[in-house]
Amino acid sequence: MEYSQSTTQGTITRSLTCSYCGSMYHEMKGIIKYAFVFLESIPCFPVSRKITIKCEQCHQRPDITTLSQSFLRNADDAIFSLAQFIPKFSGLILLILAIIYWQYEKHQINLQSNYHIAQPKVNDFYHVDIRLLSKNLRPHQKYKLAKVIDLTDGIATVVYGTIFYSTQRSVDAVIRSGQISNRHYFGRKEHHYSFSELRNLRSIEAIYKVERPQGLFLHGNSLIPPPKMSNSKAYFPGARENSAGLAFLEATYVIDHYKTAFQKFKKSASMGYKYGQVNLAEMYLAGQYIKRDVNQALYWLKEASLQSYKPAINKYLIVCQKNESCQLTDFYQALTNEGVNFHLNNDD
Ligand SMILES: [Zn+2]
Repeated sequence: MEYSQSTTQGTITRSLTCSYCGSMYHEMKGIIKYAFVFLESIPCFPVSRKITIKCEQCHQRPDITTLSQSFLRNADDAIFSLAQFIPKFSGLILLILAIIYWQYEKHQINLQSNYHIAQPKVNDFYHVDIRLLSKNLRPHQKYKLAKVIDLTDGIATVVYGTIFYSTQRSVDAVIRSGQISNRHYFGRKEHHYSFSELRNLRSIEAIYKVERPQGLFLHGNSLIPPPKMSNSKAYFPGARENSAGLAFLEATYVIDHYKTAFQKFKKSASMGYKYGQVNLAEMYLAGQYIKRDVNQALYWLKEASLQSYKPAINKYLIVCQKNESCQLTDFYQALTNEGVNFHLNNDD
């Protein structure tokens, strides 16, 4: 905290006589000393006040200690008014407003994070305090960014950024810098969390903030790597049906939109389109329009897996591990027979 002072406008008093020149006219001014933090022009609060008196004619100053108490009291009333002190608190008032706003913003972020944790979505970003999850970290290894890359039947698959940060602010900065769209930013190792495990990580503040992108952008930065050149004119059987299914899935304003989406995905899946097969499996797992059917879901996930579609393989593993009747060895055998390359992403 630093200090400065400001001088009030002066008034003229005729109740003193100058001991040097005999003049009756004296100018009185008030000086208010105040504390400030960053800017001298924005006082935080007043610290002390004093009066200066000067003969108008010869500019000599009378010794204040010789003046009577009643004179000083009257002078004080004449010079200092409340209106002069209120602005001296402006910095403090601003500071309090800033703190209130900051607390409010923090509160909003917390509410939003809780909401996002309760209903995870693919591409949700988790700000993680890694110290609560692993040991043997170096002092500066505190925070990481993580991303949800898949949701299958109540299990979220999460990948972690490869870079540690020492402050929460630098985690925010890396999102704003757009680095997260770099395809190498996130590691390959996949971590599986049930939704209740996620809520637990949130409650111990290991996940201290959750951000959900708007569309494919987070803070104006694209989340997806720039597209590779692809032959988009090629015809894929079932692609059109799958796109229609996705559109109907979102079209809540259409009556029976789930039913129509289901039919479109079913058509697409039966034409051998791997994306349609996974979407159909998702609908069987969600059981929103049709009755939940894990076996049907596994069947279609396997069909897509046999086409070397990695997300389908991951989803199959997640669903299969939750079902006692499902045999992973059969699945691996089928993949091997089909010549599908796969490697397992085992958690520790
Ligand atoms: Zn004088």
